[in-house]
Amino acid sequence: MRGRLAANWILDRVSRTGADATLDKFRAPTPDGERTFANVMVEFPGTKTNAAWIVVMSHFDTMPNIGEGFQGANDGASTSGLLVALASALRRSGRQPESIALVWTDGEECRKAYGPNDGFQGSRRLAETFRARQRQVKAAICVDMLGDKNLNITLPANTTPVLKDIALAAAKRIGAEKKIVYKDDIVVKDDHSAFLDLGYPSIDLIDFDFGSAPGLNDWWHTPNDTLDKISAESLLVSGRLTAEILNALQQ
Ligand SMILES: [Zn+2]
Repeated sequence: MRGRLAANWILDRVSRTGADATLDKFRAPTPDGERTFANVMVEFPGTKTNAAWIVVMSHFDTMPNIGEGFQGANDGASTSGLLVALASALRRSGRQPESIALVWTDGEECRKAYGPNDGFQGSRRLAETFRARQRQVKAAICVDMLGDKNLNITLPANTTPVLKDIALAAAKRIGAEKKIVYKDDIVVKDDHSAFLDLGYPSIDLIDFDFGSAPGLNDWWHTPNDTLDKISAESLLVSGRLTAEILNALQQ
């Protein structure tokens, strides 16, 4: 129910920018039986003939069973807000050479343990839809937990190398190279994995040091994931970085 409220809120916010947002409702299995999910999406068709697609994803669902009042301020909400701002910026900037899809995915979090029927239902649905429509995907970019006041972005090993290079160069151009690091010993299963599994170039930008001391992730999936732990400054850096990557992909 709250998921549906969140989806409608995003839909409303994006529609207010004048962009044509849609809800993609679908049924998918979960450990508790089949249930309905809904991705929110907005597409900006490119000007190029045979424009390829760049997909930017943030999950908007929050981890269930954390307790009453769980905010998921960083894990779910922060990058979902980033995508709303990005929709507004893209709308204002006019058409881009490549086609860009912004997608707020549902079902990223698992209910019990990650598996074929638990977690990533939204991104799997999205990647399969792109394949079924034979769309050419230039990059699938996942942004996750990027509102952390103490921003430390990880590019995990399961990131397409060319996209890793583009992201690191983009960070340098905006003066944020100290806030991002490639970790070749860490694999993070995130929404980009669904695209990676289908052979599309994919990248994950995630801050997985979300905690009470450097190197700790002890606020993640706890009642401590609250609004006071995130900052507008971090979101500005994350947003600029995402926009710079989008620019670089269209050079
Ligand atoms: Zn999570």
